[in-house]
Amino acid sequence: AEDFDILDATEGDPDQVVYLPALPVLAIVGRPNVGKSALVNRILGRREAVVEDTPGVTRDRVTYKAEWNERRFSLVDTGGWEPDAKGIDASVAAQAEVAVDLADAVLFVVDANVGATSTDEHVVRMLRQTKKPVILVANKVDDVRQEAEAAALWGLGLGEPWPVSALHGRGVADLLDHVLSVLPEVSAVAKEEVGGPRRVAIIGRPNVGKSSLLNKAAGEERVVVNDLAGTTRDPVDEQVEIAGRVWRFVDTAGIRRRVNLAQGADFYASLRTSAALEKAEVAVVVLDVTEPISVQDLRIIELVLESGRALVLAFNKWDLLDDERRGLLEREIEQDLAHVSWAPRVNISAKTGRHLEKLVPALETALDSWDTRIPTGKFNALLAELTAEHPHPLRGGKQPRILFGTQASSRPPTFVLFTTGFLDPQYRRFITRRLREIFGFEGTPITVNMRVRE
Ligand code: GDP
Repeated sequence: AEDFDILDATEGDPDQVVYLPALPVLAIVGRPNVGKSALVNRILGRREAVVEDTPGVTRDRVTYKAEWNERRFSLVDTGGWEPDAKGIDASVAAQAEVAVDLADAVLFVVDANVGATSTDEHVVRMLRQTKKPVILVANKVDDVRQEAEAAALWGLGLGEPWPVSALHGRGVADLLDHVLSVLPEVSAVAKEEVGGPRRVAIIGRPNVGKSSLLNKAAGEERVVVNDLAGTTRDPVDEQVEIAGRVWRFVDTAGIRRRVNLAQGADFYASLRTSAALEKAEVAVVVLDVTEPISVQDLRIIELVLESGRALVLAFNKWDLLDDERRGLLEREIEQDLAHVSWAPRVNISAKTGRHLEKLVPALETALDSWDTRIPTGKFNALLAELTAEHPHPLRGGKQPRILFGTQASSRPPTFVLFTTGFLDPQYRRFITRRLREIFGFEGTPITVNMRVRE
């Protein structure tokens, strides 16, 4: 389905570059069934019925934009994958580990009616070691009589338990006030440094060669290894100089360290991927040429498109490619990657170093496109030309017209058309296609929104 986001015209001042806000990140951790989804829904203020966690269900989406008292933050739901009874300890521990790495503060949710279980205590030990704020939430406190049960959770040593009922909303406002008092204004993990090194996420499914690529690219040239997130373990980001230019590879800890889980590994991989994208400006999606392009590869590319980051495709293990597989690969690219035919492709070998030097110009091209701003005058002259050459088809005797257009923002380029009526999806696709033909936008997704003037 087409999404017709209607952007507010005031969103972008065409003469001012709009930078991504580095929103503070709040992660939610807890055992299955303690009510994490309900709490997420409550915080997001969704009107639809709460969807109970379904065992074994994997969600791709883990990061949401939330807002409270006019302050915005990112909400990371680490609980999208529900393990069987045996896997619970490992799974919840993995959630907590990811949360501590990637968030500015952690909400640890416990079911006040059940009390702290051994799984909870296991996680508490880990959470007590982090310097980041951890907020203990006692959920399912639906009325005042249950507050005693919440108070019993003082015993966990995580400070004051916040009694809430995610289902009914009780206590959630106080909790959010407290959350905002501990969250930094600007994220320390997703730090935005305008003019600093550009931020690159290397992503892809397991074993495609992400860490090999990182190691080879970094090589001997690793100039700075700094601990940007302030965790005591390995660095979360690494700065690497390639061909005289410094790049920041985000969440390299996630690339190097694998969460050791037989079950749910996919979910934690997608959690990492979303979090890395959140921090990055451009993504290098690594694909393994020895294997068919898979659903998982396509899902990762989808995450990049949703995140609005620039995109480069790296076809790795080129040294292992034989003629037969090469023919198949070309067909797969045509069929499965047609929707991202605008993304620069590099054919590399992380093992031998083949064509690694092509990665830098590909990243630069993608970022240049991502940053592009088309002046309003030029954009409107072009719209006039396009609509003259190909007017919107008549609909019920009327013809929706484009009155005016502007680029609302860059990173990625986002356009708004002011129209006299709803444009057909097909017509909007025509405009999008022509914009690409004219401006290229190699390596960046673009969006064309509408605003109907009555
Ligand atoms: P990751 O899970 O994506 O980080 O993948 P790794 O970097 O750990 O690589 C998975 C396996 O593929 C390892 O055994 C690597 O040595 C191997 N590998 C990675 N890149 C290449 C390559 O370009 N050519 C060959 N032949 N093997 C590679």
